[in-house]
Amino acid sequence: MKKEIMEELSTKTDDHEFYFSAPKGYTPGKTKYVIITGSVISGVGKGTFSSCIGNILSLFHGYKVSPIKFDGYLNCDAGTLNPFRHGEVFVLDDGTECDLDLGSYERMINENLSKDNYLTSGKIFKMIIDKEREGGYLGRDVQFIPHVTGEIKGFLRSLAVKSEADIVLVEVGGTVGDLENSYFIEAMRELSYEEGRENVFFINVTYILEPRSLGEHKSKAAQLGIKNLMSLGVQPNMVICRSEKPVNQKVREKISIYSNVPVSRVVNCYDVENIYKIPVFLMDNGVDKEIIRCLGMKNNSDINRDNFGKWSQLIKKIEMKDKEITVGMIGKYTNVHDSYLSILNALEHTSPYVGAKVNVKWIETTEIEKGKKKMEDAMKGLDGIIIPGGFGKRGIEGKIMFAKYARENNIPYLGLCLGFQIALLDFARNVCGITDANSTEMDPNTKSPVVDILPEQKKIEGLGGNMRLGGKDVEVKKGTLAHKLYGKDIVRKRFRHRFECNPKYIETFEKNGLVFSGKHPKYPIMQILEIPKHPFFVATQYHAEFTSKPLEPEPLFLGFLEACVKEKK
Ligand code: GLN
Repeated sequence: MKKEIMEELSTKTDDHEFYFSAPKGYTPGKTKYVIITGSVISGVGKGTFSSCIGNILSLFHGYKVSPIKFDGYLNCDAGTLNPFRHGEVFVLDDGTECDLDLGSYERMINENLSKDNYLTSGKIFKMIIDKEREGGYLGRDVQFIPHVTGEIKGFLRSLAVKSEADIVLVEVGGTVGDLENSYFIEAMRELSYEEGRENVFFINVTYILEPRSLGEHKSKAAQLGIKNLMSLGVQPNMVICRSEKPVNQKVREKISIYSNVPVSRVVNCYDVENIYKIPVFLMDNGVDKEIIRCLGMKNNSDINRDNFGKWSQLIKKIEMKDKEITVGMIGKYTNVHDSYLSILNALEHTSPYVGAKVNVKWIETTEIEKGKKKMEDAMKGLDGIIIPGGFGKRGIEGKIMFAKYARENNIPYLGLCLGFQIALLDFARNVCGITDANSTEMDPNTKSPVVDILPEQKKIEGLGGNMRLGGKDVEVKKGTLAHKLYGKDIVRKRFRHRFECNPKYIETFEKNGLVFSGKHPKYPIMQILEIPKHPFFVATQYHAEFTSKPLEPEPLFLGFLEACVKEKK
């Protein structure tokens, strides 16, 4: 931040229009900002692109990168969003329920994020209204400018201080021209003025249309989108051209002329078959070099060759397709595949470690439930099944049938959250003989509440009627498959659930051969179950998928895929 601007802004009397917004300990100029906006249309992979930029700057250049995603909606977090409409609700270690892009960031940057890395309109407005009620604005009329934009800048600068980041990477959700993010873009304009242009780098991710009737790329929509951004006072430093096929030089030149961006910084980013290739592709196109040069930082890519090597290895292995397995996803939100994004990612980035390509087949349970389809037919060609998380009653009976089939036929089974509870219900009904066993989520009046909400545990966790959320320690029992895979006595995993194994039934389960291989370190909360002698029947009350990373795949996913390869008929 330039000295004179800083002095100007700190003038905090009623006679001024300024609203100073930097936390204590903020050192202007210490942190650089890379700000990513989108134009033309949403849903073209701005989040993926942003996480790849984070990946390059952190993994390959060794900078401390702290990403932040801004979402324009008025929800305070993603906890109340329906994954059927919005895609997976990702959960951070501190319990924040957020957009799935945060999951991409964690995977690509290989770091754990917190509530400070996620901002929505709802969250910012709530902060402001609470502050106003407490008299925090000293009698001023609270306005979009300078207060809302000021709080946003303050939020980013606080993140810079807390995370000690070299670079704060800001992804602005939505597209330029949306009402929801307009004030956020305005805040970014102010930020770049205050911090100085040498400290802020703007990237616009645009989409290049290719109407089928013309058979060529047309840049007009992109030009107009970028112009729209410029009319808000933001001059991009780089334009990323998203498209299906590579965009030619002429189209890039046209965009360059209209946007004041040198053609060397109008970069192609067409569809590739796996996202792990994108960082390398962007580096080949000099994207990182330009960002680093414009921000006056040091190019460290030579020092971090090692990580680059590991990454390239991963890509090579992904492309090796000598073996192939098919995993069945027994889910509910089966037409929105993004609702299980972290599981799909975990399968994809774990597959190279077992040397196999993993195909995913989506299975709806309703036909099985109605008896219209036979279990053998539904399971045909599947080398293993996953029952992922879910809420509500629909499809539950069918899922229990799948768990039973996998258990009885030695088919690898991985249960995640709801998949843990389903495994309990099958085992209770079909092995322990508690034929009416149920979860109180499905039947509040069941006489055999094997899965239940437990008030004493709610007190322990101090969460009232809410979900049990976020990262918690799991004690892993020695001598079990889980212990063999994790190689540790304690692991930290992420939860998002209300119901759990009713402790009254633990003894019955264990007597009948079920092993609880993971527990809460202090209380009788069961967190991992397994069936010995089965090739792989493991389920977790936590979401193992949330902590799987390309360079450190989740051990249970690894074990599951190894079993699928081994058991493949
Ligand atoms: N519906 C179950 C519960 O609330 C499982 C939740 C989940 O799968 N995330 O406990």
